[in-house]
Amino acid sequence: MSRLQGKVAVVTGAGRGIGRSIAEVFAKEGATLVATGRRGEDDFESLDGSISYAQLDVADKAAWERTIADVVAQHGRVDVLVNNAGIINYEPLHDLDVDGWNEVLAVNQTGTWLGMRTVVPHMLAQGRGSIINVSSIWGNAAVGGAHAYHATKGAVRNMSKNAAITYAKEGIRVNSLHPGFVATPLTDSQDADVNAYVVSQTPMGRAGTPEEIAYAAVYLASDESSFMTGSELVVDGGYLAQ
Ligand code: NAD
Repeated sequence: MSRLQGKVAVVTGAGRGIGRSIAEVFAKEGATLVATGRRGEDDFESLDGSISYAQLDVADKAAWERTIADVVAQHGRVDVLVNNAGIINYEPLHDLDVDGWNEVLAVNQTGTWLGMRTVVPHMLAQGRGSIINVSSIWGNAAVGGAHAYHATKGAVRNMSKNAAITYAKEGIRVNSLHPGFVATPLTDSQDADVNAYVVSQTPMGRAGTPEEIAYAAVYLASDESSFMTGSELVVDGGYLAQ
């Protein structure tokens, strides 16, 4: 229950789904947790009282600067950033228009870069930090359609490796986390046939839970993973092993 004791952590897209679970499990493990999010449908009111909330659209550079400055002013440091916020667009590449492409890139890829861009100077000054970037099995492999989503998740995977190498000697670890199919509001709103197909192709034959992803993030955030950087932690019921 204290794997993250003493750590100040920021999680994006923490109002629901995987991000919500990461926030709750991190707090349970002793982290001082700042849950951030953007949308009206997110439910921050029901979060445990020990978790604070900040409004943050991850595509907004000024909002990042405000949020992280507030975290550091209030808590003195930022030890962990989980870049979790993400959106999907299902269009195959020939149907995708420039607006759809840009929207997905702005959140999934630019948002991840801006998050790292904002916390790294603080982590450099501290001489330590752990950044966890949520990619996907679609950052390593593919199904048809959702071209922009695949593009961003592949980018997140390699941005993480580049950041890991750039800051390896400065005490900042950067790893990507690759969930397989997880039951969340995002996947609930997808075509049921597509969901059933992905589950049927998953060796364990079931969807993962947000908590199963959250505990992998706890490992990456904690000092238990102190020799781990530039890695891809895959949590997918065996999907990518095939
Ligand atoms: P979700 O839609 O349930 O939650 C995503 C969260 O991100 C929401 O709270 C949403 O408000 C927030 N968000 C969206 N745009 C934002 C923005 N501009 N600024 C701040 N917050 C924003 O999705 P989820 O399934 O919980 O997915 C979380 C992450 O996990 C995403 O990066 C997703 O790509 C990744 N992922 C999910 C699955 C899955 O099967 N659910 C699999 C692999 C990877």
